[in-house]
Amino acid sequence: MMQVKSFVFSPFAENTYVLYDETNEAVVIDPGCLQQDEKEKLAKFIADNRLVVKYLLQTHCHLDHVFGSAFVKRKYGVKMYIHKGDLPVLAAVETRAPMWGIQGYEPVEADEFIEEGDVIYFGNSQLDVIYVPGHAPGHVAFVNHAQKLIVSGDVLFKGSIGRYDFPLCNYDDLMNSIYTKLLTLDDDYVVYPGHNDPTTIGQERPDDLRQPALRVCGYR
Ligand SMILES: [Zn+2]
Repeated sequence: MMQVKSFVFSPFAENTYVLYDETNEAVVIDPGCLQQDEKEKLAKFIADNRLVVKYLLQTHCHLDHVFGSAFVKRKYGVKMYIHKGDLPVLAAVETRAPMWGIQGYEPVEADEFIEEGDVIYFGNSQLDVIYVPGHAPGHVAFVNHAQKLIVSGDVLFKGSIGRYDFPLCNYDDLMNSIYTKLLTLDDDYVVYPGHNDPTTIGQERPDDLRQPALRVCGYR
């Protein structure tokens, strides 16, 4: 049985996830820990639960999702997996961070590329990679069909969808991803988003099946 632990890190209130199961193997998804105490909080949870981190996975590489990626890579000796479409997004973080008033970002480089159809195995668990571009060009989500859960990054939120006004965003791609990749899942899939509380596919499915909630919030 896979467990989901979430943390809320940085001024962007970004959700960092640790997924693990009864074997104690784990993956870290989107480590947004920026300050030292946030990094220690993440490391303490991993140590207290005797977890063995196998992979560092990124839904996408916006700055708030990679603040702690260099730390996780170094601390656990793991590789960082991204979709290659987000290489320019990752490369831009070093210059964009100061524009957002962020100090202390440690640059990081991806090690491996993942794409739709790939499967991430750890312990007795698996995550299917789906490609959901729009909010970012190389945005992926991680789906566990056995337990009906999805780590969605910044594509779909509780009551809203991801921003599409940042550089390299594409509204049509975003809507296509939501309609063809997420809303095609069953209503009882639990969605663990990049910001705010979890939700379900059923809860976010628009009543008229045509237009999802379009409220757009900051810092996504
Ligand atoms: Zn984002």
